[in-house]
Amino acid sequence: MRLSEDDPIIDSLRQQIPSFACRPGCHDCCGPVTASSTEMARLPRRSAAARAAALDALSCPHLGPQGCTVYDERPLICRLFGTTPSLPCPRGAKPDVMIAPAVEQRIHWFAKRTRQVLV
Ligand code: SF4
Ligand code: SF4
Repeated sequence: MRLSEDDPIIDSLRQQIPSFACRPGCHDCCGPVTASSTEMARLPRRSAAARAAALDALSCPHLGPQGCTVYDERPLICRLFGTTPSLPCPRGAKPDVMIAPAVEQRIHWFAKRTRQVLV
């Protein structure tokens, strides 16, 4: 069940971020990321030990051997990566059409107005 007033904002922003195909098997941009508490509430909980181990490795507690284990609910920052010249994919992957600047600005606005926590 989704109760936060931020849920519709998150859903709308997600829909406006262009998708693209990553290089097969690549997870290079996965690492410690932050997300709003509403996005966190959509993710499964990881133990403190698992989170600490991931942080020690500069990784993400949701990164598994086959890639992101929470792909459908990955935070906005994970979706934004590679879609804007300010966060380019180091492997050169990108969508046919980059994100609209107004949408990117709205994502940054949302991040600033919400409490961001380490995923
Ligand atoms: S955006 Fe680029 S670096 Fe990140 S997983 Fe995809 S191909 Fe790899
Ligand atoms: S949530 Fe998924 S996509 Fe985002 S950093 Fe973690 S493993 Fe990577």
